[in-house]
Amino acid sequence: MKRVALLGATGSIGRQAVEIVEAHPDLELCAVASGSSSLDGIDAPLKQVGGDLTELLERAEPDVVLNAVVGFAGIHATLWSLEHGVDLALANKESLVAAGDLALAARARGGGRILPVDSEHSALHQCLEGRSPEQVDSLVLTGSGGPFRGRTRDEIADVTVEEALAHPTWRMGPKITVDSATLANKGLELIEAHFLFGVPYARIEVVLQPTSIVHSLVRFRDGAALAHLGYPDMRAPISYALTYPERAATPLPPLDLTSLTLAFEPPDVDTFPMLALARTAGERGGTHPCVYNAANEVAVAAFLAGRLPLLGIAEVVAGALEQADGASARDLADLVEVDERTRALADRRLAVA
Ligand code: NAD
Ligand code: MG
Repeated sequence: MKRVALLGATGSIGRQAVEIVEAHPDLELCAVASGSSSLDGIDAPLKQVGGDLTELLERAEPDVVLNAVVGFAGIHATLWSLEHGVDLALANKESLVAAGDLALAARARGGGRILPVDSEHSALHQCLEGRSPEQVDSLVLTGSGGPFRGRTRDEIADVTVEEALAHPTWRMGPKITVDSATLANKGLELIEAHFLFGVPYARIEVVLQPTSIVHSLVRFRDGAALAHLGYPDMRAPISYALTYPERAATPLPPLDLTSLTLAFEPPDVDTFPMLALARTAGERGGTHPCVYNAANEVAVAAFLAGRLPLLGIAEVVAGALEQADGASARDLADLVEVDERTRALADRRLAVA
């Protein structure tokens, strides 16, 4: 029996994870947690709404932690898992983006494994498995382009929250759906890929694949590229991470190739500046990615509350990055301070806007 601690159990990833665990005879939930929503109806010996996730993990003694919390709030659970050598099935990309270097140091000390749940990184993990780094030429992250692909800046200046939440291919929680509309999600994923696979930013490319069938690719030095294909359904990467290396069966149908369109196009970096901002933040390193993430979280919340236009999100993040010194965090307390300082600064900027 593999004991799964599911954090963020009531969310989009969390609910699909419950389905995967219930269908698999060798998986059981040892603990579930949410931020504020009720956990009624989920069967687990330990349940916690709000509060300290690491205390819950100490008591739960999981074999694998599925971190499906949204935002920086997932950071403690990510670091706890890596530090304790417990497998980390990671959906909560924000924690790895913000804590990159600290997370890798915790993994080196604790010996924990990161099994990516983000579909692109799950795809890359599968394409890279068993290859040595020198064989790899570059990584190609794919993205749908979100609901506003093909539009100009003028055409997205006045979009509503409802329009931003109408993602063409994936059904997800509100924060990541807005991130997909601004391409901040691809920006976070660029930084996530850098830390997960140790590939320099110059060798990670982003291309759009609007039907979300090709989940990412690895180019190798011999000219071959391996791609991962599948329907856009998070149950596949969730199941892959929870049952690794078994690759258990899921209810997904086999891919029907003749019904698919697989065109690719470059992202429009002028209309969607969040992608370039992420690349800059990642390349500068230190706490720049933490600042990018914190400012984005504040700005997305303001957009969802109707207090900021969509294009304002990138302005808030660019402003925060301009003011940040980006000095490396020595420990989690340092990082939390940078996160909090950035949030306060972004809040002030929103108040005067
Ligand atoms: P969601 O908003 O649907 O769910 C978030 C969950 O986190 C909820 O259960 C909520 O109660 C919980 N939560 C929030 N704050 C918490 C706290 N302080 N302590 C404990 N629990 C807390 O979000 P989602 O779409 O499921 O996304 C979750 C994470 O997975 C995000 O980091 C997202 O980027 C990533 N992800 C999601 C998808 C997807 O298809 N939804 C795909 C790839 C990656
Ligand atoms: Mg993704």
